[in-house]
Amino acid sequence: MAERIAEEKINQIRQSVDIVEVISDYVQLKKQGRNYFGLCPFHGESTPSFSVSIDKQIFHCFGCGAGGNVFSFLMELEGISFQEAAIKLAAKANIDLEINLSGGHGEKKFSEEHQAFLGAHELLQKFYHHLLVNTKEGQHALEYLLQRGFTREAIDKFQIGYSLNSWDYVFKFLSKRDFPPEWMEKAGLIIKRERDGTYFDRFRDRIMFPIFDRNGNTIAFSGRTLGADEPKYLNSPETPIFNKSKILYNYHNAKPNLKKSQFAVLFEGFADVISADRAGVENGIATMGTSLTDEHIALLRQNVQSVTICYDSDKPGIEAAYRAGNHLNNGGFQVKVAMMPDGMDPDEYIKKNGPEKFRNEVIGASLTWMAFKFLYFRRGKNLQHEGDRLAYIEVVIKEISTLNKAVERDHYLRQLAAEFSLSLDALKQQQKEIFFAEKRKSTGSKQPVNKPIIVQKQDNKLKPKHYTAERRLIAHMLKDRDVAYKVQDLLQGDTFNIDEHQAIITYLLSFYEEHFQSDSSAFLSYIQDDNLRRMVANIEMMPINDELTNHELSDYIKQVLNYQKLLKIKEKEVEQKEAERQSDFTKAAAIAMEILQLRKSL
Ligand SMILES: [Zn+2]
Repeated sequence: MAERIAEEKINQIRQSVDIVEVISDYVQLKKQGRNYFGLCPFHGESTPSFSVSIDKQIFHCFGCGAGGNVFSFLMELEGISFQEAAIKLAAKANIDLEINLSGGHGEKKFSEEHQAFLGAHELLQKFYHHLLVNTKEGQHALEYLLQRGFTREAIDKFQIGYSLNSWDYVFKFLSKRDFPPEWMEKAGLIIKRERDGTYFDRFRDRIMFPIFDRNGNTIAFSGRTLGADEPKYLNSPETPIFNKSKILYNYHNAKPNLKKSQFAVLFEGFADVISADRAGVENGIATMGTSLTDEHIALLRQNVQSVTICYDSDKPGIEAAYRAGNHLNNGGFQVKVAMMPDGMDPDEYIKKNGPEKFRNEVIGASLTWMAFKFLYFRRGKNLQHEGDRLAYIEVVIKEISTLNKAVERDHYLRQLAAEFSLSLDALKQQQKEIFFAEKRKSTGSKQPVNKPIIVQKQDNKLKPKHYTAERRLIAHMLKDRDVAYKVQDLLQGDTFNIDEHQAIITYLLSFYEEHFQSDSSAFLSYIQDDNLRRMVANIEMMPINDELTNHELSDYIKQVLNYQKLLKIKEKEVEQKEAERQSDFTKAAAIAMEILQLRKSL
């Protein structure tokens, strides 16, 4: 998109922004010791293993290995290019980039197309809205909406519009504004006829609901029919700018509210979000006809700790709520489930009972995740039947065993005991047995949720000595330029045993030729390889002594060099055996001497 940004500008940006501040917009960070910790935005987890170093201006996740500096954080999280990340950060730091946008390569072409898609959607969204609220052509659609309980306020807030009953209005409208038809088709706005290659509009005579991305750009539409046409809702297809697995409807509107209230209400569809908003629930979001993905979870995690699921109360709705709840619960959220009377959706409920009841008796009275599961497992069972009853009790006790707090376990066990007139002690006993049986099955694979922040230790104990020694040496070399050269001298032309480690120090030594001081964040930008960058971020986060004594240094070097000698010894031992097998005892004795020498030098 942009021409290369000058190196000095990049440095200026890096020095002006604080990585902790930038990441805090996305992740809740807590300070512990010298570093900050939080739940990783790149993978689902319930125990914080994502760390940020304010001294080094880098981040690293011990869980999934993500790591880098402030630029790579934004690039990975927002899926943007280095230049785009630089532009964002420059804006944050009030640095003028004076970018020349006329540079031209493939990247520019991609971005031009991208911009055109956004531009076309924005134009159309405004046009559709105008048609709905200001014109005769849209009047019947407006009346239809008002009749169905939409307010003018909601129509404006969600920028609802109307598409004309025409086969080619949009095609002509955008063509006149120089949008190439191939692009309009790729953006999902028009469709090509197989038979003659001409185009027609995708949306005709429908109420148009724009779908926004997290920044409020229109990236797709959902068109609702006014009559009996099928489908009832027609959505834009997936396009380069519309990826359903990443989009939460209403996220950009709800974001300030989510941050403030720390909870989101997850609805089944976007129409529910609009209905609930009318009832004063302004932290509603919905997926676009897909189940909840890891990307959705990561996006939510940037803003809230708690999610209330409010799906339809029919069978598919309850099944979907159970799946979404498990996904959220495993992601470390506090999950609740709001239940509506059988077979109702939020819109019907609000129309029948009013906004206040919806807020208080549905959202406000939502069930805890465990209480929902009690109901969930009960469905389809006849609890008067002993077999069903026992099966139900067992599955519920299993669920109770997964709770981390003794008070909570006690609470639900008591509830169970009371309902079925069982002995509490017997239930407790059974719960403990199930707990230990489950524990044996999954030895430590699942971390309890409410543990204090503990960084998972790397399994260095299982790694050979030379591996750890190399990592420690790199850690000191990253910290101190003099140490880097010292290590190079001591190696006397030998290399590290792990290829990646050797690659890192090769990068590092060439970095130090241009930079006279260590700079973790700048070095991470300097490394071209993603995998190596992650490794460096990991090593940077490793605790090491402030000073490297000569004793420690020579010890590490010895371990690095010894490994090569040990390999040599193994090789020689094979040769020796072979010589013995051939009864060449002179040769075998000579090899034995060599082995002895090698062992001595260890
Ligand atoms: Zn991670």
